[in-house]
Amino acid sequence: MTSSRTDPAPIRPLVAGNWKMHGLKAQLAEAATLRAALEGALVPHGIDVMICPPATLIMELARLAAGTRLAVGAQDCHWLPAGAHTGDISAEMLHDAGASAVIVGHSERRAGYGELDHIVKAKAEAALRAGLAAIVCIGETAGQRRAGLTLDVAARQLAGSLPEASTAADTIIAYEPVWAIGTGLTPTTGEVAEVHAFIRTALIDQLGVQGREMRILYGGSVKPSNAAELLAVPSVNGALVGGASLKAVDLMGIIAACKV
Ligand code: PEP
Repeated sequence: MTSSRTDPAPIRPLVAGNWKMHGLKAQLAEAATLRAALEGALVPHGIDVMICPPATLIMELARLAAGTRLAVGAQDCHWLPAGAHTGDISAEMLHDAGASAVIVGHSERRAGYGELDHIVKAKAEAALRAGLAAIVCIGETAGQRRAGLTLDVAARQLAGSLPEASTAADTIIAYEPVWAIGTGLTPTTGEVAEVHAFIRTALIDQLGVQGREMRILYGGSVKPSNAAELLAVPSVNGALVGGASLKAVDLMGIIAACKV
């Protein structure tokens, strides 16, 4: 991916895999394959690569990835550092387990657990407090797109979910149209360009120079066959990948489509 027309300077792309609730220990074999492939000469070094496995695999994956260019992220966190919250995991615990980032506000959490923007913001703040990068997800539903509300939703979610203290070094935006997640559907490159350009402008308004350099990932049915065209869109600084991240060969196909 070359520097886009709307980004003032080259922004280092990130390809992050979200394994969701998939993966027993045997799934780590895919991470080992990915690790080996990343050491190969064919993979450009100007791209960051991350896997966000289920919490049960974070420590093991962190061990496997130690000393390599494969980063480990988590999929969610609680907003408090510790306490009587049965079943929850704090950002500090994720950091302690070896994660360097955490996804917050994924649409499956917004929809399935009623996570509103202020909760997402509190979780993003927790990530920064714990020394993790926050991958903040935003995106419209099919109904909202049909109603012409795509940019309004993006504006509202950005304003409500992003910590004031966010910097380009510790926060990443993932634009994921809800209707594109896991469906095989994707917006046109023109639609992606419109939303990413809008997000870039909103980030600059909200965060100044930090917003200029913040990575904006596209997510939603990215696969090797469509990655090149999606990743070439201006202000698309990488991808958040669900289903296609479960097989190393597929994720490598997406990484290979990133031109730096
Ligand atoms: C996701 O859930 O973040 C995602 C992008 O999923 P998929 O790639 O499977 O659409």
